[in-house]
Amino acid sequence: MTIFIGGAWPYANGSLHIGHIASLLPGDILARYYRQKGEKVLYVSGSDCNGTPISVRANQEGVEPKTIADRYHQEFAHDFEALGFSYDVYTRTDADHHHKTVQELFLALQKNGHLYKKEVEQAYCINCAQFLPDRFVEGICPACGNKARGDQCDHCSAILEALELHDKKCKLCQHEPTVRTTEHFYFSLSSFQQQLEQLLKSSSKNETWRNNARFLTERYLTEGLRDRAVTRDLPVGVSVPIANYEDKKIYVWVEAVAGYYSASKHWAHKTGGKHDDYWNENTVSYYVHGKDNIPFHTIIWPALLLGLNIKALPDYILSNEYMTLERKKISTSQNYAVWIPDLMKKYHPDSIRYFLTINAPEKRDADFSWREFIYSHNSELLGSFGNFVNRTVKFISKYYSNNVEKRETSEEVRKQINTSYILVAKKIEAGEIKQALQSLFELIRYSNKYFDNKKPWIDIKEDEESCRQTIYDCCILLINIGQMLHPFLPFSSNKLKSLFQLEKWSWEYTEKIPAFIKDIEPLFERIDVVSIEEETDKIKNQTATS
Ligand SMILES: [Zn+2]
Ligand SMILES: [Zn+2]
Repeated sequence: MTIFIGGAWPYANGSLHIGHIASLLPGDILARYYRQKGEKVLYVSGSDCNGTPISVRANQEGVEPKTIADRYHQEFAHDFEALGFSYDVYTRTDADHHHKTVQELFLALQKNGHLYKKEVEQAYCINCAQFLPDRFVEGICPACGNKARGDQCDHCSAILEALELHDKKCKLCQHEPTVRTTEHFYFSLSSFQQQLEQLLKSSSKNETWRNNARFLTERYLTEGLRDRAVTRDLPVGVSVPIANYEDKKIYVWVEAVAGYYSASKHWAHKTGGKHDDYWNENTVSYYVHGKDNIPFHTIIWPALLLGLNIKALPDYILSNEYMTLERKKISTSQNYAVWIPDLMKKYHPDSIRYFLTINAPEKRDADFSWREFIYSHNSELLGSFGNFVNRTVKFISKYYSNNVEKRETSEEVRKQINTSYILVAKKIEAGEIKQALQSLFELIRYSNKYFDNKKPWIDIKEDEESCRQTIYDCCILLINIGQMLHPFLPFSSNKLKSLFQLEKWSWEYTEKIPAFIKDIEPLFERIDVVSIEEETDKIKNQTATS
């Protein structure tokens, strides 16, 4: 089986916060799980370096867009690595290879008869002397009357054309834009209406798309798809590869999603692999992102793939809801967020991965609070998992001088473990990552209870045989828990892997316990609850001074 996993491409215009990581983490868990199972996996993503948010930031700071893109791309690559993201490729949309592939795809769409030219009116700012990208136009949404950007209304999710807005303003200078005529290429999105309805139907039948993706896509399809411009008069981006149109750029909504494909080709070029192995009907694909990205993955990208005759329509859509912070909406502009570089400085990457998974906004918004974060670390990671590791290893060290005697595993324990393998795998494959981790922690709680009930510290004096059996069973539980935890908590899992002197984890019941196991350092340290107040105050202060 081949598995393709596409993680959303963050805009390189500001640091990552907990909301980004909460929506992207399922991709890494899937990639690690499938690799561990022995499947061929390609997991790609990159930084979106062409989007208008970068131009906006560059404008504010008075530097070139590339300066901004470089800064944040490097920061993202570092953060992802430190958090254990195992991308096969993490690239960027201002790379030459991306430009080249996107241009090839553009020409293929034209050749297949899906592009046409049209004269259109577009917002032009005389003060800034440029045509305005849709996101640069702000005003009132004609559908719901709230403040909206020219590409999309965040309030009612309507897809908009910039000129439809009322009370339009240029985002750069706040002047009212004028309207000028320009010529653009259009993509015949409307001609894919029926095929996309079919795709929605089959994904609903198989329950492979999250509900939010299904509902939103259904709404767009019911409203009816309209052809959309695929070029823009912009200074930055991928140039149109057609004579006399080189000054125009391929619009970012086409170009950014095409990154999944360009990154795959880039991976093939670098490794000698074949990108076609992952872009066919037999590959199972997962697209992992936040809900604001849904239409790009359920409508735009499938339509482009159909237009390109690439037979690899999205299978799973894992579109998370939002993460709030202390019950309030995260706001990057008001500096109301927990930024990943700050979080990484003080907390273990597995604590972050654990909390953002067990508390993932899978089906509804979820909240990050410092109290919950610290309590979940102390009681679950340290108190439950860390405790089981510690008490088992300490016991072996203290009473058996680190030696483990090989014996038959108890039937009950073996059954519990095998049930967990099946359940956890099923949940991960279905994209229900939070439930998968919950099931695994049930096994951990079972293990602690097993230790408690069997009382080896009494048996060591009264029933030597029973004591050895309990400890051996606990080792079997531990090695299998360590193995199943790897996709979720790779750092701690890898410590157990070296404890058991294994070269690699797999995804099946194992009894590969070495005869001698070394003592290990505790996996986690307790976080002082004083931090709750400190961290909460810090957010208040940073927000107040921004
Ligand atoms: Zn609206
Ligand atoms: Zn302006």
